[in-house]
Amino acid sequence: MQREGIALVVSAPSGAGKTTLISRLISEFPHFAFSVSCTTREPRRGETDGQNYIFLSRDEFERRRSESYFAEWAEVYGNLYGTPLVPVRQLLRKGQDVIFDIDVQGAAQLKLSLPTAVFVFILPPDMENLERRLRGRGQDDETTIARRLATARKEISEARWYDALVVNDDLDHAYDALRTVYLASALAPVRNPLVVEALLAR
Ligand code: ADP
Ligand code: 5GP
Repeated sequence: MQREGIALVVSAPSGAGKTTLISRLISEFPHFAFSVSCTTREPRRGETDGQNYIFLSRDEFERRRSESYFAEWAEVYGNLYGTPLVPVRQLLRKGQDVIFDIDVQGAAQLKLSLPTAVFVFILPPDMENLERRLRGRGQDDETTIARRLATARKEISEARWYDALVVNDDLDHAYDALRTVYLASALAPVRNPLVVEALLAR
């Protein structure tokens, strides 16, 4: 009996370790599909169009947005990001699990369009650690780091409504917590509606 796919939505302040943890989950469970978002930001080195993101001009993004193409969209650090709705719905209906890497504003909207999605928030052990990781990643200048840290406080205050909090102190522990949330959510009655009916029908 095939279950409905799990929409696993992962948010975190920049630098908390979301990319690291998501990559690990996809390596262990390669059947996961990644929800490829559209964005107006420039590709970073090593990013592939259609794989990491669908890179669009602002005009094209706004055109698609006006046609309700996105399940959710948000402006993050001056760039627009959005999740295409139709491909995701099709995957979930086929029983395919899908992982979403989206910010807190988008996650709140997705809770309305995909109410059975599972929402996980990755937290840093403390703010000093977050700052160290942002610096260690060597990707941002000082102004950007300061902006990311200020935004992080606002994002973390939204963590309360998520289904699960994963504190990324030790990477292995954090990963265990994330995979536990994923595996447990596969057992939820909402994703297996026919199990009870089939038993009682005999
Ligand atoms: P995000 O995607 O949330 O912005 P990354 O996954 O890019 O974060 O991680 C930010 C930096 O912190 C990277 O250099 C990563 O290797 C490092 N990192 C991630 N998790 C841990 C951890 N548990 N302990 C120490 N460093 C970590
Ligand atoms: P980055 O530009 O570093 O890849 O991502 C910046 C932020 O945008 C991250 O917090 C990421 O989770 C978020 N993001 C990526 N795709 C989407 C999306 O489709 N929708 C929303 N709301 N946020 C997204």
